[in-house]
Amino acid sequence: MAYSRVCKGCSADINLSSENINRMIDEIVNSENFKLVSEEAYEFRLQQCRNCICLDYGTTCKHCGCIVQVRALLKDKGCPHPGASRWKS
Ligand code: SF4
Repeated sequence: MAYSRVCKGCSADINLSSENINRMIDEIVNSENFKLVSEEAYEFRLQQCRNCICLDYGTTCKHCGCIVQVRALLKDKGCPHPGASRWKS
């Protein structure tokens, strides 16, 4: 029996296009169901993620599995880095 080297479960989900991410961001921004951080805080959070060794594929936090471009928008979400958050809250 031949085994595939590609994880079907992950391959479809982890490689999100910027269009898909932007669509998720637009849905959140245009919804009244979420409290959002300021643009300044959002950029700070993303910069921290870009410089973090825990960021996979440029999109995914390896601790929570979240798409950081989405998670960083949400005021009630924090950075799950072990020991200490890399985001100011
Ligand atoms: S641990 Fe924090 S800073 Fe690092 S990728 Fe995850 S959310 Fe971003």
